[in-house]
Parts: sequence; C-alpha cells; structure tokens
Amino acid sequence: MEQPIISCRDVCFSYHNLKGETLALDHISFQVDKGEFIAIVGPSGCGKSTLLSVIAGLLTPESGEVILDQTKEIRVGYMLQQDHLLEWRSIWKNVLLGPEITGTLTREKEQLAEQLLHDYGLYKFKDKKPGELSGGMKQRAALIRTMVMEPALLLLDEPFSALDYQTRLMVSSDIGSIIRKSGITAILITHDLSEAISLADRILVLTKRPAAIKRTIPVKLTLAEQSPLAARNAPEFNDLFTLLWKEISDEYTGENN
Ligand code: ADP
Repeated sequence: MEQPIISCRDVCFSYHNLKGETLALDHISFQVDKGEFIAIVGPSGCGKSTLLSVIAGLLTPESGEVILDQTKEIRVGYMLQQDHLLEWRSIWKNVLLGPEITGTLTREKEQLAEQLLHDYGLYKFKDKKPGELSGGMKQRAALIRTMVMEPALLLLDEPFSALDYQTRLMVSSDIGSIIRKSGITAILITHDLSEAISLADRILVLTKRPAAIKRTIPVKLTLAEQSPLAARNAPEFNDLFTLLWKEISDEYTGENN
C-alpha cells in the first residue's frame, strides 16, 4: 500500500510572547493520502493557519511530528489569500519567478509554464501586468506560478477569500477542477463551509483554540465529477452543510465542551 503523503502525529504548538503562552494546536493527528483533497474548517482564530504553517515546515511543532512520505522528494506549494504577484513583472515573468529564484529555470520549465498558461486560459495575457487582469485571473496566475514548481502537495490558505462572492464561486470551482485533474494532493484552509464541501474528499473540523480535531467528515457528492460548482446542487449537499454548521456553531456557543 502506498504511504500517505503526509502524517501529522500528535502535533502540539504554542506561541510565546511577552504576554505569555498561547496554545494553538493540541495533539493533532491525521494523515493525507496521495491525490486526496482535504479541507480544514474551524472557528476563527482556532489555529488553522498555524496548522498549515506547521505542515509547510515554517513552524516547528513543540511536540509530535509531521512526516512527509520519505520514499519521494515532496515539494510543497503554498497558495495564500493574496496572489502576491509582482506588479512590475509580466504574468510570464511572474509564473517563472520560482524557477528563476531557485536557479532551476530550464527550457522544460518554460514549456511547462506555456502549457499551464494555455490550459488555464491565460496564454494570451502572458505579457500583461497583474494589474491588467481580473481578480480571478490573477488567482489563476498565482496557481500557475505554484504549479510550475511541480509540487506534490499543495497548501491553500483561504486562497479565495479576497475575491467577491460570485468570482469566488467561479474561481474556487475552476481551481478545484484544475487541482483534481492534476492529481496533486491538496490541503485547503477555509472558513467557507460550502466551499469545503464542494471541493474536498474529506473535511477535518477543528475545535476552538487550542485546535484539536473534533470530527472528520468524508464527502461524497453525486455531481462531483462535473465540477465543484455543480456539486453544490448535489442532493447530499444541504445535509452536509447542516452537519458542519452544527459542529462549528457548537464551538462558538460552547456546547459539548
Ligand atoms: P486561524 O487561522 O484559525 O484563524 P491562527 O492559526 O491564525 O488561527 O491563530 C491561532 C491562534 O494563535 C489565534 O488565537 C492567534 O491570535 C494566535 N496567534 C497567531 N499567530 C500568533 C503569534 N505570532 N503570536 C502569538 N499568538 C499568535
């Protein structure tokens, strides 16, 4: 059997500052298999971004461990709320930023970037500056910039939250479909429960801070093969939403604590 891409084992993490200690992650354990799309939801301020930073290796767990599949060299890609495209560079120069910085810019990388720009409908905008593109197009360019580095694991921290509602619906569906087709393993942090249901294979619900895993909810939607947007019309969607909403709102009201 194939090893999970990533295993979190009993991970704890606290922030320390002059005011004292803030425990953010409390014995978090889960694993993600290759090709899975996991969404992580939880009350605001519970520790979602902290968990993603620990997975990315930007923060070191105080105890416990994060194990990446050691049989492969796992490259991790990160996509954030803001696209962080560089305004003075063209889209083409932006998507090649990673290989340029890491000294891995080859003709093959350029061909991959060209292919991705074609696939994601941005090729004819490659010479434009980010400011000339819509919010959705910029987010797609940011995804291409990440994909050019050929990550095996994609970490998405509220990547659609800077977009207006309608754009967000379209772009999240669009990007969700791209990620699925590419077979990349993805972990998405979101506060949008519908987004989590429409995109993920499995949803981890966190408690309020310090975040512990409250519940794991598998998602299987009848219309998921069409697109994440279509999946929102699946008959199971509302029941899942109600279940998730209850889990999260109980955390706010303090029930079951
Ligand atoms: P979420 O992503 O779920 O909104 P975060 O992971 O950003 O939550 O933060 C979890 C908790 O840790 C919050 O209560 C936040 O105030 C606290 N926190 C985050 N970053 C720091 C920091 N650098 N120093 C101290 N506390 C922090």
